[in-house]
Amino acid sequence: MSVIRGSRAIVSLVVPFYNEADIVSLFFREVTEVLGNLPDADFEIVCVNDGSTDATLERLLDAAQYDPRLRVVDLSRNFGKEAALSAGIDASIGDAVVPFDADLQDPPEVIPLLVQRWREGFDVVLAKRAERNTDTWAKRGTAALFYRIHNAISETIIPDNAGDFRLMSRQVIEALKQLPENRRFMKGLFAWVGFRTTQVEYRRRERAGGKSKFSGWKLWNFALEGLTSFGTLPLRIWTYIGGLTAGCAMLYAIYLVMRTMINGIDVPGYASIFTAVLFLGGMQLVGIGVIGEYVGRIYMEAKRRPVYIVRKAYRRDGA
Ligand code: UDP
Ligand code: MG
Repeated sequence: MSVIRGSRAIVSLVVPFYNEADIVSLFFREVTEVLGNLPDADFEIVCVNDGSTDATLERLLDAAQYDPRLRVVDLSRNFGKEAALSAGIDASIGDAVVPFDADLQDPPEVIPLLVQRWREGFDVVLAKRAERNTDTWAKRGTAALFYRIHNAISETIIPDNAGDFRLMSRQVIEALKQLPENRRFMKGLFAWVGFRTTQVEYRRRERAGGKSKFSGWKLWNFALEGLTSFGTLPLRIWTYIGGLTAGCAMLYAIYLVMRTMINGIDVPGYASIFTAVLFLGGMQLVGIGVIGEYVGRIYMEAKRRPVYIVRKAYRRDGA
């Protein structure tokens, strides 16, 4: 467990904000109420403004002006939730760190439960959704499919129905900071570092206001990121598919030779050749596509660009 200064630990809430101006004040009201009542613990809220184009930053700074426990990190543009979370985690100073969404879909009342389990000696306390009633049918289905596929083909198992919402001790955070990759699929990285883990269950609510920032296309790409970040089975599988196809082709060739020797030459089937060519051509393209996914990621990773750029980290007094 991490060092707890005196008897009062600090719990850091790390919150990415992207165009959430409508809910900033409600957010602080609800969250500071709960965190203010944590037994024997102080808190800080690290708010990361992920290049919002609305009044989010102004609202954050307004709130931070009256409350030294709020800190604002303003990124230079929209870097995406994963990068914003990384920025917040890097800036956090707490003995325990909790990534938290701005939209209050995760009820703040769960945080004291996480802290309690942490005090019992766990390094990671997952907040697991008991059900996903507030998600659409399509999102539930595709999420379940993603976890099934991901966990079947990857070396790192991501617990299903656990989002980014969890508590991690300082030791876990320091381990996380050592991971050098700049394409950060946070859920996977969280799982990769390991440590003693437990979970609590909770019910997810509707968004308190505003709209979800993740469209179907964005989620699809996010899923690809996850699938390619933690294993190479999609690449290796082509060796087996190729081997199997070649084996079948060999058997078929032997069969054709035998048949010709016994029955004499007959007119070759146009349809079967055409089907085989199309099928194999398609499979090769899919294989190249999968390689392309990985090569693209190697390329982006090889550039060694920073994960995010901070425009300004506001001081505790809001200046
Ligand atoms: N978010 C962000 N940058 C982005 C997209 C989202 O910081 O590019 C934040 C957003 O403000 C929210 C959190 O990530 O605090 C989760 O986003 P959202 O609620 O839209 O995702 P959902 O719950 O629909 O998966
Ligand atoms: Mg949400």
